[in-house]
Amino acid sequence: MTSLNDTHNPKLTSWVPSANEIGSDFPIQNLPMGVFRNAGSNGEYRGGVAIGNQILDVGKAFDAGQLKGDAAAACKQSTLNTLMGLGRGHWVSLRDQLSRLLRSGGNEKEGRTCLVDMAGAEMTVPARIGDFTDFYSSINHATNVGRMFRPENPLLPNYKYVPIAYHGRSSSIRVSGTPTKRPTGQLKGPDAETPNFDACRRLDYETELGVFVGPGNVLGYPIPLEEAEDHVFGLCILNDWSARDIQTWEYQPLGPFMAKNFSSTISPWIVTLEALAPYRSAIFKRPKGDPAPLPYLHTKSHEGSGGLDINIEVAVLTDKMRKNGDLPHVIGAPNFKGMYWSVFQMLAHHSSNGCNLNPGDLFGSGTVSGTTPDTYGSILEACKGGKQTISFPGDEERTFLEDGDEVVMRAWCDGDGKARIGFGECRSVIVSAA
Ligand code: CA
Repeated sequence: MTSLNDTHNPKLTSWVPSANEIGSDFPIQNLPMGVFRNAGSNGEYRGGVAIGNQILDVGKAFDAGQLKGDAAAACKQSTLNTLMGLGRGHWVSLRDQLSRLLRSGGNEKEGRTCLVDMAGAEMTVPARIGDFTDFYSSINHATNVGRMFRPENPLLPNYKYVPIAYHGRSSSIRVSGTPTKRPTGQLKGPDAETPNFDACRRLDYETELGVFVGPGNVLGYPIPLEEAEDHVFGLCILNDWSARDIQTWEYQPLGPFMAKNFSSTISPWIVTLEALAPYRSAIFKRPKGDPAPLPYLHTKSHEGSGGLDINIEVAVLTDKMRKNGDLPHVIGAPNFKGMYWSVFQMLAHHSSNGCNLNPGDLFGSGTVSGTTPDTYGSILEACKGGKQTISFPGDEERTFLEDGDEVVMRAWCDGDGKARIGFGECRSVIVSAA
């Protein structure tokens, strides 16, 4: 298991002043990785680490002799796939060096020459994502949605045995800040005889965490649960946009397709599993009567530490609110601790038939939802399938999303005596289908 060391010490501060501000997402204990270039330039993207409101150009620090090793050198590339494939020993060494360089008393004079102002940088998708798999690991989301279709029996009989997922599309994954175009597709109202082709009218977000895979496995050789965490590089925020009306008509018998593959948005910074070490928790406690996971999805140590205590929040900023200078209106705030299946169970299950994973593959956790309306991770749940309106400031109402609405997701960890670890933001505004 990732262990605590002096890089997690909550008392550490950085010589970058903004990293020490209360509420900063990127203090010295976080050190999330992303790829960036100077905004408006046509230069190559390169690997960086967020510190306060600055980015350390890791490859530049390597060239200057401030950082050593294969992991730092790999950050000179325009994606983090090589870094992800190197494995935990390399990641731990890089984190240790970054912490020493950037902490108070580190080499500020040299380090400063490798800093770029975050406000003057543009970010992109941090890896070449070969495959994208979207899970369905929140039992509360599965139950809330299942109840709309099968009130008597919301959960299907496989749910408590199988970490359910479908294979998604990686080509349409975009970084936070990229607008999302309303999709068009086949829609069929409940009373219509035949479908028509039109712009989606029931556009929704799904509040998820994304998991970037580190070293993969050889085809035919599963990754056992006890080794799963060596294959997890880190986590980001993921908005798995969903067209509910397209989905209703197409999803049987083979599952989601055009309702999902038009766009997914991720936050630019990957918070590493090392940074999350202080926030490991016991896995979700299954209620009495639920079956135990099959042996390949269970170990004693995983039961004690397979969970992650991460707060998530989803908010919407309408066009009118933006013009009024309002803050995004929070709709749901779930916690990742309540997931029925852990990140590690998802990974072990995915490879359990021998399916090979590769560095830079992305998993979606599935919509993270709690049991109460203020913890719902999709608007489908918040508006009860369109039956209930959601009130916004300025007398606006919504069921599903409208053009001009901007969805803003945030995630962070905090706790007594621990440094806050933030994920930054995942935001995207909806533009018209026309
Ligand atoms: Ca999803």
